Amino acid sequence: MRIQVDTHTHSTASLHAYSTIDELVSGAKKNGLKGFVLTEHGPALQGGFPHPYYFGNLHVVPREIRGISLLRGVELNIMDDSGGLDLPFKYLKLLDFVIAGLHDACFTPSSKEINTRAMVAAIANPYVDCISHPGNPVYPINYEEVVKAAVHFGKALEINNSSFKIRKGSLENCKTIARLCGQYGCYVSCGSDAHYWRDVGNFETARTVIEEAGINESLLINSTVDSFTEFYKRRTGERRNA
Ligand SMILES: [Zn+2]
Ligand SMILES: [Zn+2]
Repeated sequence: MRIQVDTHTHSTASLHAYSTIDELVSGAKKNGLKGFVLTEHGPALQGGFPHPYYFGNLHVVPREIRGISLLRGVELNIMDDSGGLDLPFKYLKLLDFVIAGLHDACFTPSSKEINTRAMVAAIANPYVDCISHPGNPVYPINYEEVVKAAVHFGKALEINNSSFKIRKGSLENCKTIARLCGQYGCYVSCGSDAHYWRDVGNFETARTVIEEAGINESLLINSTVDSFTEFYKRRTGERRNA
């Protein structure tokens, strides 16, 4: 399966990541990508965030560097079970791709019912395009409910390649999510979650999970530059009109 765009990467601006934007470009080239989305953490993640101005100033970074398309995004924190996020709309409206995810510094892992409610509320939030690492075993969720919500709101669920290394126990959960996405026709995003340049475009296990689930390429939002462009242009339009 083709994956031309990496939808989830962090530069040194996320303070626990180790490569500059230009180094991430080198990783994208090395791994044969055509583009990637820069998705630094939202400001509520202690020890990992850039100042909100960072997102307002991203226009100074070229849209293309050495033949690689650079898209502007963020990985926000889901702050509560009512869809609360940690960056105001004045910044979100400037971005191409808005991911939201549960991180334990911002949302204490809770019961399956409460975790599910929080994730579904984030999916329903008109500013959010995609949920990062929904297969994280630290946050048990009702997969069927989450997948059906993502289908209803036209959002994507991520199969995160780093999860298989750093979020132990993610593999079976991600297989379940991918299978349900195929069954219900839910958009899938494949992200490396690279925190180091060599991992940009590293989809080693995630790609297998997606392929084995029989996900149709038309459901994978970042299979080609064109399919990703179509997805994020629709979403940025909906975000601005929300
Ligand atoms: Zn994350
Ligand atoms: Zn991340």
